[in-house]
Amino acid sequence: MAHTVKALFREDAYLSVAEGTVVAINERGGIILDQTCFYATSGGQPGDIGFFERQDGSKIEIAATICGETKDEIIHVPAANQQLPEIGEQLTLHIDWDRRYKLMRMHTACHLLTVVCPYPITGASVGEEESRIDFDVPDFDGDKASVTEELMRLVEANHPVFVRTISEAELAANPGLVKSKNVRPPSGTGQIRLVCIGEDGTVDSQPCGGTHVTETKEVGDIHIGKIEKKGRENRRFRIRFGPLPAA
Ligand SMILES: [Zn+2]
Repeated sequence: MAHTVKALFREDAYLSVAEGTVVAINERGGIILDQTCFYATSGGQPGDIGFFERQDGSKIEIAATICGETKDEIIHVPAANQQLPEIGEQLTLHIDWDRRYKLMRMHTACHLLTVVCPYPITGASVGEEESRIDFDVPDFDGDKASVTEELMRLVEANHPVFVRTISEAELAANPGLVKSKNVRPPSGTGQIRLVCIGEDGTVDSQPCGGTHVTETKEVGDIHIGKIEKKGRENRRFRIRFGPLPAA
């Protein structure tokens, strides 16, 4: 039976340390807690790495965080040769915050790119150094510099970024909120988590379970590193940190 883990990162993306109690160890040594601040890989955002601190001060290195049978089951995968904790043991959970914060900045940057380039999304991946989004756009006549400029305008406007929950019925009534061409947001729970940018979400609102910064200025300097042709209809945009290098 799948465990339901309280996903603290959904409420507070800035929680880098939290307490958790071990509820199960699965057959492959994956650690399941009652609650966690570790994000589990999904929606193109990689899961967290970091370590668990035991009562005696020793550490258990966590190499990956993934979803189990359901999205509510979060499994922490220890690095090789780690001591496993006992069921019922209380641990202090430490995310690799530098990495996670970069992923948050990048994930928000990806949402901003979907504002600048309002085309159907066919794929996306958030990375620490580089993220990419594939759009279904047969004729794209922009270039790296112009897209970068529009992206940075949104960053510098310092729009608020916040989460709102709507019902499946509201989502069904606003199909334009879904930007992904092939992936439908998870249904069945009745609730959809929207990540909104701008006052009342006027800049952007889209279903997303990821972790984001709270103001677009936190994204910092970003630029489009590359725009590639992927097949006849797709363009792959690569977002990188830092200002656009001089040509
Ligand atoms: Zn997202």
